[in-house]
Amino acid sequence: MRQPATDDRAAGLPVDRDRMKRVLVIGGGVIGLTTAWELLVAGFEVLLVEAADSVATGASQANGGQLSYRYVSPIADAGVALKALRWMFERDSPQQLRLEPSIRQWSWLVRFLANCSRSANRRTTLRLLRLGELSRAAFGQLAKQVRPESIALRTPGKLVIFRQARELARAVRAMPTNEPPNAMGEFSILDADGCVAREPALDGAQCLIAGGIFTGGEAVADCRLFCLRLLEQLSQSRDFRVLLRTRVAGFVRDQGRAVAVRAGDDEIPADEFVVAAGLHSSSLARNIGVRLPIYPVKGYSLTAPIGRAHRAPEVSVTDFERKVLYARIGEDLRIAALADLVGADPRVDPRRVASLLRVVRATLPEAADYGRAVSWAGLRPATPHGAPILGPSGVPGIWLNVGHGALGFTLATGSARVLAAMLAGREAPVPLDGLTLV
Ligand SMILES: Cc1cc2nc3c(=O)[nH]c(=O)nc-3n(C[C@H](O)[C@H](O)[C@H](O)COP(=O)(O)OP(=O)(O)OC[C@H]3O[C@@H](n4cnc5c(N)ncnc54)[C@H](O)[C@@H]3O)c2cc1C
Repeated sequence: MRQPATDDRAAGLPVDRDRMKRVLVIGGGVIGLTTAWELLVAGFEVLLVEAADSVATGASQANGGQLSYRYVSPIADAGVALKALRWMFERDSPQQLRLEPSIRQWSWLVRFLANCSRSANRRTTLRLLRLGELSRAAFGQLAKQVRPESIALRTPGKLVIFRQARELARAVRAMPTNEPPNAMGEFSILDADGCVAREPALDGAQCLIAGGIFTGGEAVADCRLFCLRLLEQLSQSRDFRVLLRTRVAGFVRDQGRAVAVRAGDDEIPADEFVVAAGLHSSSLARNIGVRLPIYPVKGYSLTAPIGRAHRAPEVSVTDFERKVLYARIGEDLRIAALADLVGADPRVDPRRVASLLRVVRATLPEAADYGRAVSWAGLRPATPHGAPILGPSGVPGIWLNVGHGALGFTLATGSARVLAAMLAGREAPVPLDGLTLV
């Protein structure tokens, strides 16, 4: 079993502390924490710096909880632009667009539209599938360290339901079932009866369903609890330290190379730096002259208690056309949805929550106690193509692990492993084309 290097020390193996490289990771979300773990495993000393007074207060807090390694489906796809136009006139639309006089928004939208083709979607899907497979293996090892039951981990598989037969047919045609071999793992294409047989809680919604795609092996867990448990595990290592309430404002450079970060009046030195600050990575990168194509895609979640009389789905369910996912996490039903392009406002908009509740009540009315649902909004740090940006920033000493969009929990462990391999001077465990800053 892989453990941080400190355990080697505990086992009596010689470690030359003076020669250990110190890496400073910026950001205590799921990406920064998994990066810290993999760096420790690779033999680095790690300092994690987080602006808030706890980890997992950003997008990693109350996300959908799906570990969707095999149904990765990037948002940018053929026909999405037309759908977005139609959604502008729908009352309970899954997406809202508020155009702003902002170069950042417009240049992101232009690049997003350029990725809305079948071929671009397929290319990104294959990249995400490779990273997803690596993440699945890496998460499996890591979950044992944090005790699966302590993060409400289950592996019920994922059922994507389609309301229109033509959308199902399109999705089936687009499935990369042949390459890379077995990338989709176990999957089945189901009619409405088959969907209900797979997930009996859908029987009241059968008339809404044209069919579905079930992928086995997909998991669900509480991302925030995962982050908290991981921090506990990390904190047991002598080579790990965390600084909370410490906002990095910029970098100190010596002859071009980063040598420290600035935080308040302090300068914190390290040998290498990893930017894993979610949405805020863009402003940090701008400080060093690097433009990251990351824009906030705002989403919402509801966490509703499941009582004895409720019929909550066991399988994790995604309602494709409404873009709503349902995942049972412990005694609660987590519902995550909406992809609003409305800038970086983190506040919960009660109108969007009401809209989501209408959709959910009309789809699975008996699944949970929606009257007691807790609402939350988060900003997905999204790239225009839907794949993260991993590796060198172009500035010596500064590395990137950013832009995980709608799949950050899923892809965190694989992305962290890629970063750790690169910092250790090893070959990355997956091909990196399309996953780096070009
Ligand atoms: C509604 C919703 C549902 C989702 N559902 C899923 C899902 O089911 N499955 C899935 O895989 N993904 C899902 N996601 C996506 C996933 O949550 C994100 O991709 C992921 O959390 C991003 O993690 P992160 O660590 O990059 O960012 P964050 O979690 O936002 O963490 C970044 C951290 O950096 C800190 N920080 C920022 N600036 C600085 C600074 N200057 N100095 C120090 N610290 C700083 C912040 O305080 C924050 O803690 C969902 C997202 C949303 C919004």
